[in-house]
Amino acid sequence: MQVIDKVYIDGTFVTPHGDELLDLFNPATEQLIGRVRLGDAQDARDAIAAAKRAFPAFSRTDKRERIDMLKRMHEAVVAKEDELYEAITEEYGAPVSRSRWMAQHASRVLLEAAKVLQDYAFTRRAGTAEVVMQPLGVAGLITPWNSDAGFICGKLAAALAAGCTAVIKPSEMSAIQTRIVTEALHEAGLPAGVFNIVTGRGETVGAQISSHPDVAKLSFTGSTAVGKTILRAGADTLKRVTLELGGKSPVVVLDDANFDYVVPLAIQAGFMNSGQACIAGTRILVPRQRLTEFEARVREEVAGTQAGDPRDPQTTVGPMVSKKQWERVQRYIRIGIDEGARLIAGGEGRPEGSDAGWFVRPTVFSDVTNDMTIAREEIFGPVLSIITYRDTDDAIAIANDTNYGLQAYVFSADEKRAREVASRIEAGRVLVNTLAHEPAAPFGGFKQSGLGREYGSFGLEAFLEPKAVIAAL
Ligand code: NAD
Repeated sequence: MQVIDKVYIDGTFVTPHGDELLDLFNPATEQLIGRVRLGDAQDARDAIAAAKRAFPAFSRTDKRERIDMLKRMHEAVVAKEDELYEAITEEYGAPVSRSRWMAQHASRVLLEAAKVLQDYAFTRRAGTAEVVMQPLGVAGLITPWNSDAGFICGKLAAALAAGCTAVIKPSEMSAIQTRIVTEALHEAGLPAGVFNIVTGRGETVGAQISSHPDVAKLSFTGSTAVGKTILRAGADTLKRVTLELGGKSPVVVLDDANFDYVVPLAIQAGFMNSGQACIAGTRILVPRQRLTEFEARVREEVAGTQAGDPRDPQTTVGPMVSKKQWERVQRYIRIGIDEGARLIAGGEGRPEGSDAGWFVRPTVFSDVTNDMTIAREEIFGPVLSIITYRDTDDAIAIANDTNYGLQAYVFSADEKRAREVASRIEAGRVLVNTLAHEPAAPFGGFKQSGLGREYGSFGLEAFLEPKAVIAAL
């Protein structure tokens, strides 16, 4: 059993002031695998003070130095890839096919930030003025459990590229993954205090970071409810805030789509990361006249989807991260049934053959209307809704009839038609006939899916403030 009893402040692994112990479980077996000693508000204040001390010198480093640092961080995380992969599988329960990608993603985002920095001009002209993009100050980075290492490295990379120093509060449920990332980043040999990592509870460490006057910037990924709390907490000191929140992404299947191509992608979009993905395509919009054909293809596809042991390479849907998450998904499946949706795959309970572990059955409902709870609320598990539409206008209206707007998918045999539909969808990203990710493109939500953008130059500028210098001619 692993015991994690250190937080990372001012370039050193220190015993936290906080003394609460939290158990860590393997979600595939429900076995206790570790215990973490959580930091508290005092630890958060110490970390903020360290980041504040480090800021003046770090903010004056030049591009070249910061690119070198990001490259060293990248190499250090690459060196820990196998250890990270193991921890992602064990502590988070990601299927091995996914854990490998996640472990690599964590190092890749550091390199991508270095690339953005390379091409970014911090100074430009506006009329007679010189406009300088200045780092904001200390950044508070608060991350969820569904891609611990990726979010830590991605947010940190953008903050440091901009010249900000950082205090990171990862999810308390990902302490083993966080320990490995922290050790890797420490190896990169950055100046003390430039980044600090304090695992602790949201209500203590997270709340302290989001309200502390010495934190200039908050970047948060997590639920919409907590995002709103953080925005309120930061309002008193007018912090700049980036929020990456939940989603209820539509998958718009146009009437000319080839289902042999589309259905596997739609199921993959819905069940990605075992359904615990903010960008999961959970509302599948299908032309009414082709519903029977679509359902038949979906049944086939889900029958071929393996849910279970994350260490089996054939598995694509692993366990839910916690008992609480498992219960949440079960509750939504029950609500779907009670509201009159029709199950065409999966349902309540565990998949056949699993008696331990927080496994759920990959589930698809049909006859869903867009006003049902399962079509409105983010479930964060492998539970999909098929909703029919009359014509393209109706499909677009349904797609946009949601409080969210993070990502959308459009599938059609005619790319031009699909692009026209994409242009009318309210979402930060629209994927046309693909599930591809583009790290250079902005990522973030419309409406209650968030504020601001991450990735590429948009993500870098979220940590910068323009200053115009106008001098006598
Ligand atoms: P969560 O909102 O419960 O927690 C996220 C983080 O916030 C954790 O570190 C948590 O400890 C912290 N936190 C909780 N209360 C806090 C408070 N009062 N003040 C400050 N911090 C606080 O989310 P989760 O359950 O860890 O993750 C799942 C959610 O994250 C889903 O809603 C999902 O859609 C969202 N998500 C969004 C994106 C995106 O990029 N848009 C990506 C992944 C996950």
